[in-house]
Amino acid sequence: MAYLHCHGCGWQQDDFWSEDGYNPFRNDHIEWLKELLFRDEPMAMDKWWIDEAGIPYQTREVTEKMPEGPWNKSSVDEEKGAERTFLRHEVLPKHMVVHGLQSMARSIANMQWRTEEEWKAAGGTNAPCPQCGESHWDID
Ligand SMILES: [Zn+2]
Repeated sequence: MAYLHCHGCGWQQDDFWSEDGYNPFRNDHIEWLKELLFRDEPMAMDKWWIDEAGIPYQTREVTEKMPEGPWNKSSVDEEKGAERTFLRHEVLPKHMVVHGLQSMARSIANMQWRTEEEWKAAGGTNAPCPQCGESHWDID
């Protein structure tokens, strides 16, 4: 795998693909999406990630018993015991599937050269960047 990006303007594309190796339809990713499609339970995710991804979610206040541990006894409510209350941000599995498919579609739409061979055939380090036209490539 190799990740191609332009130091001139910041344009980038996915790692080069191969038919039987890394590509947007790799089996582990597809199996994961299929499993999510039939899952019922909402998934707790970090709010910053959900916001950045633009995925619909619900926020619930959750109170749960804290696991046994050396907690500061002064912070433990004598009646309730060791509990903590926090906000849980939940995404429906189907929205994770939609997000996964949209990411794959964006990656495919943005891919200028599917394989390293295509990039080399287009000039390799001399190929013009599709965004700025310069050839300031970095390949990691
Ligand atoms: Zn560029």
